[in-house]
Amino acid sequence: MNDTDLQKFKQLLEVQRDELMASQQMAQGATKTVELDQASVGRISRMDAMQSQSMAVETTRLRQQQLRKIASALALIESGDYGYCSLCDNEINLKRLEIDPASTMCVPCASKQE
Ligand SMILES: [Zn+2]
Repeated sequence: MNDTDLQKFKQLLEVQRDELMASQQMAQGATKTVELDQASVGRISRMDAMQSQSMAVETTRLRQQQLRKIASALALIESGDYGYCSLCDNEINLKRLEIDPASTMCVPCASKQE
């Protein structure tokens, strides 16, 4: 991969990371609101609140997983190993990286994982 592509993916990853961190911060604010409201609401709406809170927990988990993927992709850019499959060392298709710059596996390896 040439430097121009590398810089492009670095930028994409940094934008994604910043967006994830921003929504993380917003979500933390929202979770606090739910906790405060619980004192004044009835049983049914408390269950609603709990349900939406467990959904928020799942969203947070996925977001953190994605943040870790982005962080390791950025580390690979720094070390010069970005764009190679973590399993077979083949180059990852550029089109695939354009869709998900944080992918660390080529298409054949990724589909074997599923
Ligand atoms: Zn592979």
